[in-house]
Amino acid sequence: MQPLIELDDVSAGYKNNPVFAHLCLTIHEGQFAGIVGPTGSGKTTLLNTMLGTHKAHGGKVRLAGHSIERIPPGTIGYVPQLETVDWTFPVTVEQVILMGLYSNRSLWPWPTAKERQQVADLAEQLGIGECLSHHIRDISGGQQQRAFLARALINNPRLLVLDEPTSGVDIKTQHDVMHLLNDLNRQGITIIITTHDLNAVAAHLPWVVCFNRALVAEGRPREIFTRETLTQTYGGELVVLEQDGHFLVAHKPITL
Ligand code: ADP
Ligand code: MG
Repeated sequence: MQPLIELDDVSAGYKNNPVFAHLCLTIHEGQFAGIVGPTGSGKTTLLNTMLGTHKAHGGKVRLAGHSIERIPPGTIGYVPQLETVDWTFPVTVEQVILMGLYSNRSLWPWPTAKERQQVADLAEQLGIGECLSHHIRDISGGQQQRAFLARALINNPRLLVLDEPTSGVDIKTQHDVMHLLNDLNRQGITIIITTHDLNAVAAHLPWVVCFNRALVAEGRPREIFTRETLTQTYGGELVVLEQDGHFLVAHKPITL
């Protein structure tokens, strides 16, 4: 497999808060990879650095060998974490999806009949064809997730990046989202997601990167989910339990 995203000695963070330093990480073409770590471990910062939307203060980020700053719009589809979306913004599902098409233009034009058809077809494929005229706030979490996924997919990106796509939705929707992403990956699109959920999400991924302000381990969950790597990834607040060869991460029991 060819490298798609390469981080070469990358350091990033915020004023007075360095998040990671000298990170080297490669995501290969065709992979479906999960970046796993607890809240505050730097997953979102890492994603935004990969996308070039958060500027690294050291090192180099490349996509297919080209500097991330020079990647043509539409190459990467990005789905934000639902919890971070401003829901007061008055837009319909159709307008959300159209934003993906127009993200590289400075003006908001009237959509052509062809563009509206393209949006309708994709919405239909993702099971939200009925919701196009609804306000984005008035649909379920699973439908919102699909609307943002459609916005990310409308340009046929080479890479799809989703920040915590299973957070803030119910278990059935989590399952549906993971199945959908799996199907898209089989169609050839490279996918990177972040998740803090070890048991329901990360354990089912073909490839995981355990991350806590530094790379802890990467590989197939079966091979790298050991007590050592999980304790290192999840830190002291959580305990790693083992049952029948499977690991669970749980809050420490309350001592009364
Ligand atoms: P995660 O996505 O794993 O929860 P984040 O990347 O959001 O982690 O956060 C990593 C660290 O960076 C945290 O300490 C967080 O408080 C800090 N951080 C995140 N976003 C900002 C920001 N915009 N300004 C300053 N600090 C931030
Ligand atoms: Mg985050």
